[in-house]
Amino acid sequence: MPNGKPNILFIMTDDHAAHAMSCYGSRINQTPNLDRIAGNGMRIDNCFCTNSICTPSRAAILTGTYNHTNGVTTLSTPMDKNKLTFPKLLRRNGYQTAVYGKWHLGEGRKDDGHKYYPDGFDDWAVVPGQGLYHNPEFIFENGRRVVEGYATDIITDMSLDFLKKRDTEKPFCLLCHHKAPHRSWEPDAKHADLYEDMEIPYPETFNDDYSNRASAASAAEMRVADNLYEHDLKVQIPEGLSPEEEKKWKYQRYIKDYLRCIASVDDNVGRLLDYLDAEGIYDDTIIVYTSDQGFFLGDHGWYDKRFMYEESLRMPFLISYPKEIKAASVSKDMILNIDFAETFLDFAGLPIPSFMQGRSFRSILNGQTPADWRKSMYYRYWMHKAHHNVYAHYGLRTHDYKLIYYYSDALGTEGSVDESYEPEWELFDLRKDHCEMRSVYNRPEYAHIVKELKDELHAMQSDLGDDRYCKDVD
Ligand code: CA
Repeated sequence: MPNGKPNILFIMTDDHAAHAMSCYGSRINQTPNLDRIAGNGMRIDNCFCTNSICTPSRAAILTGTYNHTNGVTTLSTPMDKNKLTFPKLLRRNGYQTAVYGKWHLGEGRKDDGHKYYPDGFDDWAVVPGQGLYHNPEFIFENGRRVVEGYATDIITDMSLDFLKKRDTEKPFCLLCHHKAPHRSWEPDAKHADLYEDMEIPYPETFNDDYSNRASAASAAEMRVADNLYEHDLKVQIPEGLSPEEEKKWKYQRYIKDYLRCIASVDDNVGRLLDYLDAEGIYDDTIIVYTSDQGFFLGDHGWYDKRFMYEESLRMPFLISYPKEIKAASVSKDMILNIDFAETFLDFAGLPIPSFMQGRSFRSILNGQTPADWRKSMYYRYWMHKAHHNVYAHYGLRTHDYKLIYYYSDALGTEGSVDESYEPEWELFDLRKDHCEMRSVYNRPEYAHIVKELKDELHAMQSDLGDDRYCKDVD
């Protein structure tokens, strides 16, 4: 192992929900190569993002901080390259570092001094914005050019090239960031016919009518039935279908393409694992597979993310490192995206900067949960009605309950309250209602729970420094 430090291979996809991975018990697909990572290491069942949207989650991962701290609160708040990130710290301490694929933290321009370019990497190539699946353009340090091929293959090829050219005397930290399976869900030719002759099962909450909750759920415009259009699905919807038939038809089209994109990711993860095996460095390498957030896979009749609801909040997180992590182990401890940076620094034997707000979970990976490990987490989504008409909200999740407040403050800007919307609370009893179909906020028997959770929420906002604009009301 170079310098006694482990290599880090961090594979992150975009919008890949844990319930579309067979190692997480998927009912709808198989992911044999992702399952290899889980089989050789640990599957974390309660890994959550602190804001379920691309750019903010990526900033949280790189800096180990919440979005109110790093300032990357929305899709249009890029990350200044001067921010301190874990790859920068690793590079300063002898790691060779690289990132390939989706960056989505802003695009560099000459006139702004490439303020939002990836920084802290020996080599990088990233797609502009969301990037394309076929023949994507890439931004390189020395300019832009189109690379022929399929994005998932290309990003893996670039990652493999970096590994082949690496200095074997130094440890590496490689970020392999796929575009897939983000919309527009365009599979490659190899997987185009997968699932063609079968019907993918429907989720339990496919026909949710959004009753018994705050109005936010019914107001959201992310319904498979009503908000997935022909241009999203890139196909003409057949005529003469009943509304129920059309909803099912759209779901099948959407979910099959989504799963086909994942099948290509799975193949390409296999290529990387095979390379590490062949090089004899599998055991010296921390391998992570995650996604920037979860996704609704027809759950609640939806596609997309943003909400603090389970399918969107939960990130898949698989990690293998045979030197420390027991094979086929599972953790139920609560891990957040702001913990990743601290954990990698810990493994590299480096101090964790005081500005970081997460905590290394290395001991959990070793099978020892610290007695004072967190039992609740804070979430905040800032983009009030910006996309899919999802209301801004924050909340607290414990192992048993989830409290959500839709606070009606546009983009978290002080004073910009949305007068058209009366703030609302929701409380879910996850022990009895894991699908979050019934808010029990107003039930008298939960009054003491509401009080406890509100106190904890406010204390957490104060501790974390996010109490500036949050003045919730009963
Ligand atoms: Ca995403």
